[in-house]
Amino acid sequence: MTYDCIVAGAGPAGLMAALIAARAGKKTIVFEQNARPGAKILVSGGGRCNFTNTLGVDEFWPRLGRQGRFMAQALGVFGPEAIIEFFKSCGVEHMSPDTFHVYPASEKAADILGALVTACTRAGVEIRTHTKIDTLVIEAGIVTGVASGSTFFKAKNVVVATGSMARPDLGGNESGYTLCRQAGHAIKTPLPALVPLKTEEPWVASCAGASFEHARVAIDLPKYRAFAATGPLLFTHQGLSGPAVLDISGSVAEAIERLGKVLLTIDFFPETSREMWLNRFDGWYERLPRKTVLNLLADHMPRSFAQFLCSQAGCTPETTAAHLTSQARRTFCSQLTGCFFTVCGTSGFDGAMVARGGVALAGVDPESFASKKTPGLHIAGEVLDIDGPCGGFNLTCAFASGYCAGLSIAK
Ligand SMILES: Cc1cc2nc3c(=O)[nH]c(=O)nc-3n(C[C@H](O)[C@H](O)[C@H](O)COP(=O)(O)OP(=O)(O)OC[C@H]3O[C@@H](n4cnc5c(N)ncnc54)[C@H](O)[C@@H]3O)c2cc1C
Repeated sequence: MTYDCIVAGAGPAGLMAALIAARAGKKTIVFEQNARPGAKILVSGGGRCNFTNTLGVDEFWPRLGRQGRFMAQALGVFGPEAIIEFFKSCGVEHMSPDTFHVYPASEKAADILGALVTACTRAGVEIRTHTKIDTLVIEAGIVTGVASGSTFFKAKNVVVATGSMARPDLGGNESGYTLCRQAGHAIKTPLPALVPLKTEEPWVASCAGASFEHARVAIDLPKYRAFAATGPLLFTHQGLSGPAVLDISGSVAEAIERLGKVLLTIDFFPETSREMWLNRFDGWYERLPRKTVLNLLADHMPRSFAQFLCSQAGCTPETTAAHLTSQARRTFCSQLTGCFFTVCGTSGFDGAMVARGGVALAGVDPESFASKKTPGLHIAGEVLDIDGPCGGFNLTCAFASGYCAGLSIAK
């Protein structure tokens, strides 16, 4: 049998591409290596699925960084607003508690996946699980099908939507890169992104679990100063995590690749300047001289971190505000407003939400997501060299690119 459209990978990009092609009457099959489709959708947003956000297209694509412009056209066709409308039309209402992140109103990722799979089934898409696509069939320079082991499937169009190497436990692998390489595409070395960082400072373990709502994290390297993020930060047993850290982790991974180690600087309270901290210490001296510095600090931050600060500044747990030396004040100020960390690694693809790198964008048309190298091939989703920060950016890109690939095949 010859299909109009074969899709490799039943993630958000592949399912969306299949749906749009099938709705146009194209005979479509999706091959998925796992037992079930959409493993990453199910775990996304901690099971709540932050499936898009409320940014307009012109604000959205610049947030994707160096490669963002590539997505501008696709987002113009199927951006956040259209994605919200699409799921609404499938019976999934949305909510946005902070007016930025968008979740299904049920806060169940399964509703997003269920809507997509149901829509696919209704449109006549066949989803065949337990089937891994190993090679593209290329005849006379045109993709004419795929092979899974020794079984061949013929198609007029093939979409590679196999995702990235992130989270092998959920199906992450490099087969998409292998397939696209076969069709003549260059691959930018994939690196873990949206990934916790490992630091050299052993004391972080004593603060594991301590979190800050609004820290500013920056890479302290001449060519990377622009890479900074502000948001929640979390200490782990081995280093640092939380959205602010995850958002710059792809750039940190790139810098580690080049330099081995990377210096980060963190301002734990960017709204509180050095002068404001000094005024606060003066206030404690005048009004609360008998209170311990540890307790006073712990009113503003996790106790474990306050303990670390005290040990750095030479204060005991009993040191009172009246006995706070100017040297100790200076130490507190520098640790709170510009604490240095040496990052020596990441949690790797096992701990990464996405990958930075992938199929080089120069070989892909940004309107149709068709391969510029080999006719008959489309490439969509995270297998491409595009990644975004936390906040619904990555699922949006997967939906948008899948939609445009499907639309191109439908035409
Ligand atoms: C823990 C976690 C939380 C996340 N939370 C969010 C979030 O809240 N918001 C957000 O925007 N993004 C989030 N992401 C990122 C987002 O899930 C991904 O960017 C998105 O799923 C990528 O979509 P995709 O379709 O390109 O690839 P995937 O979702 O990875 O789908 C690819 C599919 O292809 C299958 N496959 C791979 N190789 C083959 C092959 N050779 N043959 C057949 N099948 C194959 C895989 O098994 C997989 O099912 C999260 C990711 C993780 C891991």
